[in-house]
Amino acid sequence: MSDTVDLIPFNKPYMTGKELSYITEAHRLGRLAGDGDFTNRCHSWLEAHAGSAKALLTHSCTAALEISALLLDLREGDEVIMPAYTFVSTANAFALRGAVPVFVDVRADTLNLDENLIEQAITPRTRAIVPVHYAGVACDMGKIMAIANQHQLTVIEDAAQAVMSSYQGRQLGSIGHLGTYSFHETKNVISGEGGALLINDSPMIKMAEIVREKGTDRSRFSRGEVDKYTWQAVGSSYLPGELIAAFLWGQLQHAQDITQRRINAWQFYHQALADAEANGVLRRPIVPGDCQHNAHMYYVLLPVHVDRQQVIDQLKSKNIYCVFHYIPLHCSPEGRRVSRWDAELNVTEDIAARILRLPLWVDITEAQQQRVVETLLAAIS
Ligand SMILES: *Cc1c(COP(=O)(O)O)cnc(C)c1O
Repeated sequence: MSDTVDLIPFNKPYMTGKELSYITEAHRLGRLAGDGDFTNRCHSWLEAHAGSAKALLTHSCTAALEISALLLDLREGDEVIMPAYTFVSTANAFALRGAVPVFVDVRADTLNLDENLIEQAITPRTRAIVPVHYAGVACDMGKIMAIANQHQLTVIEDAAQAVMSSYQGRQLGSIGHLGTYSFHETKNVISGEGGALLINDSPMIKMAEIVREKGTDRSRFSRGEVDKYTWQAVGSSYLPGELIAAFLWGQLQHAQDITQRRINAWQFYHQALADAEANGVLRRPIVPGDCQHNAHMYYVLLPVHVDRQQVIDQLKSKNIYCVFHYIPLHCSPEGRRVSRWDAELNVTEDIAARILRLPLWVDITEAQQQRVVETLLAAIS
């Protein structure tokens, strides 16, 4: 029997069913370059949803981080504080401009940047802090913004995983000076590849539009604010075409429903694994009381003595695909070359070695989740 049971993948991109009709509409309108009708609809939705001064669609969260780095006007050797437990783009976008990623350890509870270790990493060269909201659970933005204001640093939230998550009632991505979203197919709300930059600090809007439009003031020209557009600053082409925006529009309208259904699945795992945690078999995610998360991810931390690869292999032999996550950036070849870290990153290394992410998507069934839980527990004990 066991070789015929359903395959449970780690993730399945969810389609709302609206995407193709909007793509058809964009096709019919025949206006396919960026910043058309569908892009504008997505911008308005994101601005209203996040309460952000300005939203700009990008090709990816990586692109939104790159715009952020260009907006900082970084000089060679300037420093940007961030966790090492993150996706490469968080650091790469700044290293691309000659800046030095400075790694700070993460908290053992949320696996997010430890706000209590930030100040000791600040030097005269520090320009920015990049909190990453891991698994859609907020960093301590109250403390982080206070530190940033005191030291006059810019905060760029890497909210790639955090669309629809909030901290003390405020949407993630809308709290820092800048915030970045990802609509990659592995995230909650998707367009294949895609992302957005939220600009919460209004004076940065004008330059963000210029950087995103090849370094020109074409956005102002399109609005009739200037009678020609010219090269204004160093920039690149960061805007997606209308077909991508049309697809995304079909997703954003269902963002609430997508999130609720993921939360239901997340809660199922959380309840099903409560006893195992109480018995010391594993640790479940910890969500602070002032964070509303978006169920981007369900993970467990395995005990030190458990061989994670063996657990992954055993699940795989039962057609269930669980995965680990980041190789900490300070352990990667390029991370070692271009970054700095002054203190040991013990929590980062510990949790990176023990984390296991469970299958989760919008319409995963309880029967599938039950199978994951039972097979996982059998593999650990
Ligand atoms: C997915 C992700 C990114 C990159 O997003 P893309 O849209 O693929 O560029 C950056 N940072 C974090 C934390 C992510 O999870």
